[in-house]
Amino acid sequence: MPFIQVALPTPLRRLFDYRPVAGEPLPQTGVRVKVPFGHRQLIGLVMGLTETSELSANRIKAALTYLDSQALFSQQHLDFISWVANYYHQPLGEVMQAALPALLRQGQALHPPQEVRWQLTEIGRQTALDDLKRAPRQAALIRTLQASGLAKTQKSLQAEGFTLAMLKGLQSKNLIEIQTLATTKKGIGLPQLATREQLPANVLAEVPLKLTEEQRQVVELLIKEVGGFNPTLLQGVTGSGKTEVYLQLIQHLLEQGKQVLVLIPEIGLTPQTLKRFEKRFNRRVVALHSGMTDKERLTAWRSALEGRAAVVLGTRSAIYTPLPKLGLIIVDEEHDSSFKQQDGVRYQARDLAVLRAKQEAIPVLLGSATPSLESLAKAKAGAYRWLYLKQRPGADVQVPEPKLLDIRNRHLTGGFSEPLFRAMDKHLKEQNQVLVLLNRRGFAPVLMCTSCGWIAGCLQCDARMTWHREPPKLHCHHCDQQQPLPTHCPQCLEGELKPLGAGTERAEETLQERYPEIPVIRLDRDSVKNRNDLASKLEQIASQRPAILLGTQMLAKGHHFPDVTLATLLNADHGLYSSDPRAMERTAQLIIQVAGRAGRAEKPGEVIIQTHHSDDPRLEKLCVKGYEALALDLLEERQKINWPPYAYLAMLRAEAPKSEQVEQFMSQLAEQANLLNQEGIALLGPVPAPMERRQGRYHMQFLLHDNKRAPLHRLAANLLLWLETSPEARRVRWSLDIDPEDL
Ligand code: ADP
Ligand code: ZN
Ligand code: ZN
Repeated sequence: MPFIQVALPTPLRRLFDYRPVAGEPLPQTGVRVKVPFGHRQLIGLVMGLTETSELSANRIKAALTYLDSQALFSQQHLDFISWVANYYHQPLGEVMQAALPALLRQGQALHPPQEVRWQLTEIGRQTALDDLKRAPRQAALIRTLQASGLAKTQKSLQAEGFTLAMLKGLQSKNLIEIQTLATTKKGIGLPQLATREQLPANVLAEVPLKLTEEQRQVVELLIKEVGGFNPTLLQGVTGSGKTEVYLQLIQHLLEQGKQVLVLIPEIGLTPQTLKRFEKRFNRRVVALHSGMTDKERLTAWRSALEGRAAVVLGTRSAIYTPLPKLGLIIVDEEHDSSFKQQDGVRYQARDLAVLRAKQEAIPVLLGSATPSLESLAKAKAGAYRWLYLKQRPGADVQVPEPKLLDIRNRHLTGGFSEPLFRAMDKHLKEQNQVLVLLNRRGFAPVLMCTSCGWIAGCLQCDARMTWHREPPKLHCHHCDQQQPLPTHCPQCLEGELKPLGAGTERAEETLQERYPEIPVIRLDRDSVKNRNDLASKLEQIASQRPAILLGTQMLAKGHHFPDVTLATLLNADHGLYSSDPRAMERTAQLIIQVAGRAGRAEKPGEVIIQTHHSDDPRLEKLCVKGYEALALDLLEERQKINWPPYAYLAMLRAEAPKSEQVEQFMSQLAEQANLLNQEGIALLGPVPAPMERRQGRYHMQFLLHDNKRAPLHRLAANLLLWLETSPEARRVRWSLDIDPEDL
């Protein structure tokens, strides 16, 4: 008798052997199984069978039950997930868990249990009610069933007052039976069995737009190569019709009966995006994102697994969705940082999209107005095909060039300079909308005492508390600590407390004071808590003119605001001189996104970027020459300093409540790394994390750097072996991040 090998959600990076469930046929690979594990029971996935085990046979426990009658993951999909676990050095069982909807992780059945229905047997149908005179309730039950001629659910019968005991009694007399497929008789009524869906022959539910010449060329080229692995970077300015290109490409795949996976950023998936896809196709389009209930997720996931969902539109973790007929993967806004999972099982969904496409020999399309340096480097090297959309279809209105407005030595009111106000006056007077982007929530990022200089800091973090007005409080955006607003300075007891800088609440107040007649529509995480809030804000935006749209990133992504003619970024400086090597890239992407909001439709637009560094050559290049020119410069810099995407990184992080604990551990780690380092990997650190104290814990990091991937991964793997067995490592919380993005 072979043993079954099970992937279990434990930190141990190995499979576990069990004896098969007694009296059941051997399980297929890819089904869930419940097993005893220490004092607990765990749910894992069967990865295969083995004749031999390292454990002696009498120490191997028996599995308890199989939870699926059919595999949830095909062999190919299991291979993909095993690859992910290997590459990121994560336990397979935990990657598996990340790939399963919560309800399946918890052991729920893939299909909701069928309702129990009772029907008459042949005898029951011919029984005269007189024969049951002495059992009037039973007679009544038979009468009910005879009268309707249909099977009835147990629930409805119980609601009519028939008990389970009565049903069982009649069953033992062979008068009624539980309806199953085998006992369903013609004319007695069919149970609700999943019938094969009849799909309309025409994939299209609406007439698609007529493509521009530029779009048509892209679609034709991509259709021609739909048969194999073909990574493409589609660099298209905002509003150039990338989504329309996706839709027409998807149409082609759906006509061949294929499924398509579309990955979108966390906040890019709005009800409108979903509607736009649903409206186009006579096929099932499902969403997969964190805002859904567990039940909704399971339903969507199941329809993907069963091949009924033709298009899956999902955020990061949707990359793990099983799709038996997958024919194409699209990653929209591929530069977006939400594709990187930053904790638990860390992965980069964009990279996995390319990998999965390669394994399945299908094309993958990465779309963005501001591609990541990673993808640009691949395109430049010829590893990805590089296509452009440079025009906006329809009107002659093109993306306006951003103008830098220097605010050095200028008086700011709630973050706004006088010249900016004057520009806004003009656009509002023309009955248009103005979009103001400010990437800071709350009233003010700093609360300070004017006489002694005290600043409200977080007790848990090396961070300042943000002052919020509604409701009034101090709030740390890093650890979520909240405190009531102090009434006086806790240090000198007498100074006046004043806000420094502006968040969206303060900007809103400033705008309401200056433009009392004009609606200010604010979108940030405090004012938009769910999809309904978002829908109602978007509705306001669609119906009010003039208006000011004020918000964080939320406002810069994915929406079409045809009446916005002025878009402005209140402060471009947050990322400019940061220690994060990606800061400039991110700032540039944000500026271009903001610019993309202005001057859609028929109206020419204007874009104003406030900064203290208008002479920064990188900003100038971005505004005058555009994103690609700047990005290519940044790439050159990266190449010079031998940094990703031209080199590889792995980050080891550790944290502990006491700084000595983490320091001591990190120096041991560094020592080990030096010992194990046979291949000359550069070891950087250990150093304190950019925010050393966070949530009351001390954080440090240690970076491995090399221009080859394989030796770097070998060292990481060896270090992991040490980490997993050394007692020192148990005293801290540590993690390994392959291809880290936050340094
Ligand atoms: P992107 O995804 O690049 O931002 P979209 O596909 O959303 O661009 O297109 C931007 C706008 O242009 C949308 O309102 C869309 O309906 C319109 N559009 C796209 N392609 C065409 C076309 N070929 N003809 C007319 N309008 C188009
Ligand atoms: Zn003070
Ligand atoms: Zn904090």
